[in-house]
Amino acid sequence: MRMIADGGSEAMFVAGGTDLYPNMKRRQQTPKIVIGLESVRALRTVKGTPAKGLVLGAGLTLTEVAEDKRVRKGHPAVATAAELISTPLLRNMGTIGGNLLLDTRCNYYDQNYEWRKAINFCMKKDGDICWVAPSSPRCWAVQSSDSAPVMVAIGAQLKLVSPEGERLIPAADLYNDDGIRHLNKRPEEMLTEIHLPPTNGWRATYWKLRRRGSFDFPVLGVAACLTLAADKTVEKASIILGGVGSSPLRAVNTEKTILGKRLNEDTIAEAAAAAYPAAKPLDNTDYAMAWRKDMARYYVAGVLRELAGLPPLHQPSPGVNGSSPFRVL
Ligand SMILES: Cc1cc2nc3c(=O)[nH]c(=O)nc-3n(C[C@H](O)[C@H](O)[C@H](O)COP(=O)(O)OP(=O)(O)OC[C@H]3O[C@@H](n4cnc5c(N)ncnc54)[C@H](O)[C@@H]3O)c2cc1C
Ligand code: SF4
Repeated sequence: MRMIADGGSEAMFVAGGTDLYPNMKRRQQTPKIVIGLESVRALRTVKGTPAKGLVLGAGLTLTEVAEDKRVRKGHPAVATAAELISTPLLRNMGTIGGNLLLDTRCNYYDQNYEWRKAINFCMKKDGDICWVAPSSPRCWAVQSSDSAPVMVAIGAQLKLVSPEGERLIPAADLYNDDGIRHLNKRPEEMLTEIHLPPTNGWRATYWKLRRRGSFDFPVLGVAACLTLAADKTVEKASIILGGVGSSPLRAVNTEKTILGKRLNEDTIAEAAAAAYPAAKPLDNTDYAMAWRKDMARYYVAGVLRELAGLPPLHQPSPGVNGSSPFRVL
């Protein structure tokens, strides 16, 4: 804590470095001091039980999260999201905390310095225009963390610690719908713990759309968390879209469509249609934006069918949940 207080705005934490170091090489992020967290053992623990709630240390690697028996048993959606991130090597380095704090992404920003200089940079770093929406006063870079939509959907809480004290906030409150100021977190705040709620009847899942099933950032992620009565009436619903905005987006109208109703073919079709306006992709990641927006419908239908125990319209390929829309719907 003293190091970050001394370093001020010139310092940043680094955990696995799989996001920060590539960004530093491309001079997108240029801290003068990096404070390594890799050897802070207190950040690498799992405490609690699924029934009472699990507390994950922010420094656990994605592999550790994906393979932890308690996470797999109690919070399979969290384990799924972790194991769908990038490649095995990067999952051995990258942490769950770093994933939740991932920088937003954009085709005009995730380029080397010379490339960005050739277009006179952009508003997110060193420039003053947005090449995606030139008349826009804001940046539309995309929230691309796989675990963020899941943590928001299940109502996880995050502990942030700074020299001034600590606070526990709902995961939803960490994110801000702005590509530059995308985190409601002060630079000196360290993410130390992720509190997963007790598993008391709700169920959750996460589906990811990306070009290659082996690795790639999500261009759409759908996380859903439902509490269902015995007859499949929806008592509580939280449906979050990732990769189609600068923050995880709540599909409010989809949630309203199914609340208090039984999940069946008709209600799922209605809910999926309501997800279409909620997805707001722009032309700044992989795939055509109109197609990504359209896929929100199919993915919402897919997660709801899974949670309702209805058969998928087509079988997903083994072990690669939702990696290709052509396999799942
Ligand atoms: C080829 C490639 C593919 C990838 N694919 C995906 C993907 O499919 N899905 C995905 O979600 N991500 C992907 N990533 C991004 C990245 O690997 C993961 O998000 C990873 O979890 C980041 O964790 P890290 O520990 O390496 O973060 P770091 O790079 O160490 O840090 C990331 C950010 O978080 C901050 N930070 C880290 N830990 C803390 C802390 N405890 N407190 C305060 N600040 C902290 C850092 O200052 C930095 O701003 C990919 C990366 C690469 C290079
Ligand atoms: S959305 Fe616009 S301002 Fe933001 S990174 Fe992309 S081009 Fe730059």
